[in-house]
Amino acid sequence: MTVLVLGDQLTRTVGPLTDHDGRVLMIEARAFARRHPYHPHKLGLVFAAMRRFRDRLRGAGHAVAYRQCETFAEGLGAHFEAHPDDELTVVRPASHGGADRLRELVADAGGSLTVVEDERFLCSPAGFDEWAGDRDSLTHESFYRRMRRETGYLMDGDQPVGGEWNYDEQNRETPPDDYEPPAPPTFEYDDGTREVIEWAESEFTGGYDEPPYGGDWADPDEFRWPVTREQALRALDRFAESRLPEFGPYQDAMREDEWAMNHSLLSAPLNLGLLTPAEVVERVLDAYRERDLPLNSVEGFVRQVIGWREFLRHVYRREMPELATANQLDQQESLPEFYWTGETDMACLSDVIDGVRRRGYSHHIERLMILSNFALIYGVEPAELNRWFHAGYVDAYHWVTTPNVVEMGSFGAGVFATKPYASSANYVDKMSDYCSGCPYYKTKTTGEGACPFNAFYWDFLDRNEDELRSNHRMGLVYSHLDDKGDDEMEAIRERAAKLRERAERGDL
Ligand code: FAD
Repeated sequence: MTVLVLGDQLTRTVGPLTDHDGRVLMIEARAFARRHPYHPHKLGLVFAAMRRFRDRLRGAGHAVAYRQCETFAEGLGAHFEAHPDDELTVVRPASHGGADRLRELVADAGGSLTVVEDERFLCSPAGFDEWAGDRDSLTHESFYRRMRRETGYLMDGDQPVGGEWNYDEQNRETPPDDYEPPAPPTFEYDDGTREVIEWAESEFTGGYDEPPYGGDWADPDEFRWPVTREQALRALDRFAESRLPEFGPYQDAMREDEWAMNHSLLSAPLNLGLLTPAEVVERVLDAYRERDLPLNSVEGFVRQVIGWREFLRHVYRREMPELATANQLDQQESLPEFYWTGETDMACLSDVIDGVRRRGYSHHIERLMILSNFALIYGVEPAELNRWFHAGYVDAYHWVTTPNVVEMGSFGAGVFATKPYASSANYVDKMSDYCSGCPYYKTKTTGEGACPFNAFYWDFLDRNEDELRSNHRMGLVYSHLDDKGDDEMEAIRERAAKLRERAERGDL
């Protein structure tokens, strides 16, 4: 029996590799890497991490066949030629339909495949389905409480530590002007790893030199992600030691000169399997106990990992394939080209997109309240925005971008989002320092120089009135819309139309 290890399944602590001392097959399929204009750092990361994982398995005595080929079918064909009638075992691929596609490819190559569940996640499909039962709607908070009870994390008997389940209200502060978060970790890479990162950059970035991508994506020298388990553990330690204490209060804050703030930067190693969610949370809980850290920071972090991450994985599992193309607001605009080039005068979008181009990362509130908020109020088709997120980020996989982008960010399906995350410049100004250096006026809605977030925001509410006005969570914003007279609304619609033309011309 051979264990087939996919590129985002680099785990020995749980799953089929824990008690397997036989053969391992890994396939580095280049065609896969060409399906989207993936960020060069993402491809460098995945390929480097796969190769280092292979070396580690070999060091531990496994016979690893590492096949570098154009397609998966080729890799499987070569494997079964060398080992006719071999039986493969694989952890269920995270992407929708992945297991079925793999089964077909293996059958075509003349072998058989056993698919086992992914034990890295804390909540099994059966556990989630039992919780979901025949509920009409899935709410994250209820799922999260169940996860707390089930894991015992931050529990005091059957009560939450501190008396509250959720301290989110304490997690919306903005830091003082002179605040400096602890520096994000950097890693030393061996020559082999450097070569892979440079090779990925030259091999796969052809498309980035053409419109609409704008060229100059990512410098290999700026690559900064853990590629081995040891580096991932070091990243976890660094987070627990230095940035965790203020993770909570500044979780939603955005600063132009601080791309990482106090975020953990652990999504990439978590999604690759270099870390498991359980060990990440337990390391954080150890730090909490040893150093009496603020509960709002610790709870806020635990909620993201055992709550949101697990919840969205199951939303994806249950709602696909419809979720990928869900578009309940019927939004049809194309994504403005500046999402690829970063060429816009809007200080917030320009800075956040620059960060995505440079390092394949922006933190959660930038993804939600700058990038997807703007696309939402502009009217971008959710599936197109999803492709952009999938291509641009080092931690992006279809299972995690789709529920985040299509549902949370674009209000595409109404599966768990109870209202759209739409906001005007007001929110951006409250939570960031972008507006003070921006040529657009944050308080103006119409007229030359008015911040585009404002006209698009009111225009979005106006356009989608039939779908949104009856939503009880939207009552207040529609009462503000009602305060606007006919002339003002007409001016807003005109301004939004003009701004859209400018965006299409690349002049926003
Ligand atoms: P932290 O802020 O330190 O959070 C800790 C961990 O919690 C993260 O590492 C992540 O594993 C988990 N987490 C937090 N929120 C979520 C969430 N909503 N969904 C899943 N996991 C979560 N996450 C990805 O892993 N890959 C993506 O491609 C991705 N795309 C996103 C797109 C949009 C529009 C939005 C709104 C969110 C997206 N997220 C994605 C979720 C979240 O923004 C990132 O996980 C987070 O920003 C990663 O940075 P971090 O590790 O520093 O996170």
